[in-house]
Amino acid sequence: MNELERYAEVAGKDVIEHLRQLTTLLRGKRVIHVNSTREGGGVAEILGKLVPLMQQLGLDTTWEIITGSEDFFLCTKSFHNALQGNAIDIPELLLNVYEETNAQNAERLREKLEAADIVFIHDPQPAPLLKLCPNRNGKWIWRCHIDISRPHRPVWKYLQNYINDYDASIFSLADFSQPLPHDIFIVPPSIDPLSEKNIDIAEDEVASVYKEFGLDPELPIILQVSRFDRFKDPLGVIQAYKLAKKFTPSLQLVLAGGGAKDDPEGEVVLEEVRVAAADDPDIHILFLPPGADRTINALQRGADIVLQKSLREGFGLTVTEAMWKGKPVIGGDVGGIRLQVINHYTGFLVHAPEGAALRMRYLLSHRDKLQAMGHKAREFVRENFLITRLLRDYLSLMVVLIYGVEERIELG
Ligand code: UDP
Repeated sequence: MNELERYAEVAGKDVIEHLRQLTTLLRGKRVIHVNSTREGGGVAEILGKLVPLMQQLGLDTTWEIITGSEDFFLCTKSFHNALQGNAIDIPELLLNVYEETNAQNAERLREKLEAADIVFIHDPQPAPLLKLCPNRNGKWIWRCHIDISRPHRPVWKYLQNYINDYDASIFSLADFSQPLPHDIFIVPPSIDPLSEKNIDIAEDEVASVYKEFGLDPELPIILQVSRFDRFKDPLGVIQAYKLAKKFTPSLQLVLAGGGAKDDPEGEVVLEEVRVAAADDPDIHILFLPPGADRTINALQRGADIVLQKSLREGFGLTVTEAMWKGKPVIGGDVGGIRLQVINHYTGFLVHAPEGAALRMRYLLSHRDKLQAMGHKAREFVRENFLITRLLRDYLSLMVVLIYGVEERIELG
């Protein structure tokens, strides 16, 4: 079975058929994605799936990587932090490295890039390539994967000089964007249903993961998977659990996360969580190593309810992952959680531990409702947040840019 057939099994045959129809409008067009790494990070992970899918649909698609020295990545890491709001000024010397590195990469890639019909430039690292390809033939799209709604202004001003000339930009959420002198498209993130983190796994594997961590899979389990970060509100989760436990004494709570070791604040938060949990043996704090995808998958599948009680959130992929596993999510009423948790339908949006406890109690005592909500949550993700939808959005955008649109519907 090829990959497209495998995706047809989970996303639906009609979805793949739709992708094929869009592709017929793009036959013979050359598409190039450019980013700065083939491994590590969300962008590489998505491209690693997306590019082969585009190729299987019959699109002439390639994926190019720009290469650079340590200083280049030091500079682009600073861009990343500055664009997300840190007041970092970048020394002239590093900016020169950034520009020279792009110039060197342009020498290598210019011929292909200028000939392409569509070029997707991912994030700031390769952004200057457009100016370095003066004889371009096709349309160029800047695909921004980060939240640049409150950037450190001098850095954004510098980068904007490169980005203004693009034909379009894509942001993950409307809230993440900046005004630009071209069309801006919103394409929300997605998950890959065939990855280790999301693929179906057998019930006994799920049960054995829970047993391994000392939990009883027969008793109700509440789960939150998150880095130990204040914005994920792990203390609020413990508070909510303690309130709900008054009505469901057999309740167990799992707080699973990692990444705290190299994040000084994370370690402080983890310690606070340990203190708050110390008096209750039914609270399980699991410190996961990087790449524990299969474990996270099993934990999400085995939970009765998943919490994501964030106080601030980007998109919240953990919400998508849990919903895909048929779990109702009780989530903070913030950021991208609002796009996913449709209140009272795919889960509940809450503002305080008391609200979360109330919803837990309701779902645990109305198992039919819990199941129905979980089912709707899964279908909602199938419709809106699988990688096939991401691909559909990209293909549609390519059609719009290549053929132009005389009429369009503006959604307010
Ligand atoms: N994740 C992980 N290990 C952990 C905690 C989280 O692999 O210990 C994963 C989680 O499954 C999700 C991503 O990291 O895929 C977190 O993305 P999200 O958008 O929920 O939050 P962020 O950490 O980006 O704020």
